[in-house]
Amino acid sequence: MRVPFGRREVAGLTWSEGSTSDAPDELRAIAEVCDELPPLADDWRALVEFAAAYYQRSVGEVALAVLPPELRRLDRDAVADRVRRMRRALDRADAAGTPANETGPVLTAEQAAARDAIVAAMASDAPGTTLLHGVTGSGKTEVYLQSAEQALAAGRQVLVLVPEINLTPQLIERFSRRFANRRIVALHSGLTPAQRLRSWLAAQLGVADLVLGTRLAVFAPLPRLGLIVVDEEHDASYKQQEGARYSARDLAVWRGRRERVLVVLGSATPSLETWQRAATERYARLALAERIGGASWPTVRLVDMGRLPRPTIGLAANAPPPALAPQLVAALHERVGRGEQSLVFLNRRGYAPVLQCGDCGWLSGCPHCSAWRVFHKQDRTLRCHHCGLAERVPRRCPECGNPDIAPVGRGTERLEEQLAALVPGARIARIDADSVRRKGALEATLGAVHAGDVDILVGTQMVAKGHDFRRIGLVAAVNPDTSLFSSDFRAPERLFALLMQAAGRAGRDAARSDSEMWLQTWHPAHPLYQALARHDYAAFAAGQLRERESAGLPPYSHLAVLRADARTADAARAFLDAAAAQAQALAESEGVMVYAPVPLDVARVADVERMQMLVESTSRTQLQAMLHAWGPRLDALHLARSDAGARILRWAIDVDPLTI
Ligand code: ADP
Ligand code: ZN
Ligand code: ZN
Repeated sequence: MRVPFGRREVAGLTWSEGSTSDAPDELRAIAEVCDELPPLADDWRALVEFAAAYYQRSVGEVALAVLPPELRRLDRDAVADRVRRMRRALDRADAAGTPANETGPVLTAEQAAARDAIVAAMASDAPGTTLLHGVTGSGKTEVYLQSAEQALAAGRQVLVLVPEINLTPQLIERFSRRFANRRIVALHSGLTPAQRLRSWLAAQLGVADLVLGTRLAVFAPLPRLGLIVVDEEHDASYKQQEGARYSARDLAVWRGRRERVLVVLGSATPSLETWQRAATERYARLALAERIGGASWPTVRLVDMGRLPRPTIGLAANAPPPALAPQLVAALHERVGRGEQSLVFLNRRGYAPVLQCGDCGWLSGCPHCSAWRVFHKQDRTLRCHHCGLAERVPRRCPECGNPDIAPVGRGTERLEEQLAALVPGARIARIDADSVRRKGALEATLGAVHAGDVDILVGTQMVAKGHDFRRIGLVAAVNPDTSLFSSDFRAPERLFALLMQAAGRAGRDAARSDSEMWLQTWHPAHPLYQALARHDYAAFAAGQLRERESAGLPPYSHLAVLRADARTADAARAFLDAAAAQAQALAESEGVMVYAPVPLDVARVADVERMQMLVESTSRTQLQAMLHAWGPRLDALHLARSDAGARILRWAIDVDPLTI
């Protein structure tokens, strides 16, 4: 509908027909009502209300963020027109006859057992949540497909969530071939506004049978919903990182419970939250332990970087160890010689993370951030990956004029160069955020890899995810240690998932039984690497859960973070200190710990100082009650601190934060 607001007319939603405390003469009549659209269902409004309350935002903000923007822009007639056009297009498609569905493969015994358990759960009164724990290539997607088939056959709608837009086209294609006689729509932020409206309308009007999308699709209105699948449920991109910081995975579970619809969470490396709920039987657990076709798990080779032979004479004795261990270089040679592909990854783009002057010690810092500017050799720039500042590389040291400034450390650009020197003749390609910036570049490089025109693919974690490379026999992680001792307690969990996923790229062809994963590390005995070598997620998870329990961290406690941004660290800290004092005064703070403010890892970005304060409780209910009482007071506090010295730029609460 459209309603008058001041002198303008704006789009609005009817929330409920309840009463208002506003005086009747302050109310104004609705200007126009969009009756071509059925009202948004109770279930949908309940989901938005829950998300708003849980993540400490207003209902309006959440509703507007998750509805297609076109809906706000268009007037009644235009919306009605879109609805009619969509119906006409559907009728035409129906008249053209329904194409035949592709038939799926016969499921393995494990897959069939999982499918049967899912179908049985779907039919139950309280279907709950099921974890499908299956190693990469164990046929999880096939289980989703054959379970979805059952839901569709029963006349229900299916919602499939995937972590990345990049993965949707592949998956859409796979679902479309299988369900050629069904209506499948995509819903993600990469669609044009018109496409997004069309998909949303198809869902809301109940004409779409299957909605496949990224996190925002969890809010798709689906009147006949019968099954929700969350693929790669551990993936961090399910958490929205600005505005309403919701977790689409967690909302999917909530939605399933309210609408009595089964939720399937799939992963090779479940989040520890999910794993623990399965262990305590709040979620059902299904396992796929075998890779399809019997492909074997790659042999994990740990290279102890502390024991590499080093030059023993002269200055070079103090030189750092080589970028790549000689035995890894030899293995790469051998694979190239056999016409096989290798994947080498390093989680750092650019040529070198910093430039240094050998004379005065100058380092290429960013003037606006507490971070180094990264040297990009290709376009001879120094670039800050935080604020985006990019300048040409200076010819001489800006401090002392010394012309001899040198790169320190290594990123993917440099790795590519070093590999070219170490494995002469190999055809090398690189995939990272820089190399794929040009439109079509990613597709072109992936195409070359698939066509066999690339021997060694270098890249950041972008290459480790999802892509189904068939001919890769060797995967190498050049410097995985960096996240081993991070201050973020979830860093090991993320590293393990990434390495498992990367390892899963190797040896997908069953014939390739000699696939390997190389890890260059200074800590070869670390339990994380040892569990990886044994391909033992359960052991890794058990170790992590023990540590989390003794440290009182999630899933054994619940967290929220209050963040404040200001021009000075003092202002940000003063705001958080005042907020903490308010919290102490609340009766609802019983059982809730408020920690001292600390700066973020990269404290200053674009001249803004960023601080955060952790709030923790063993009871989710207590934490929620406290946040509820606190939120309005923080608003008031923010408004009250308006004098220049104490002013902060913004503040936000992040409930169940993923990075700390
Ligand atoms: P995951 O989602 O666990 O990575 P997929 O479902 O994508 O696994 O399966 C991996 C590959 O094996 C795909 O190419 C898929 O078509 C194939 N596949 C899956 N299940 C079977 C099966 N039962 N028989 C033959 N091939 C299968
Ligand atoms: Zn200098
Ligand atoms: Zn910067």
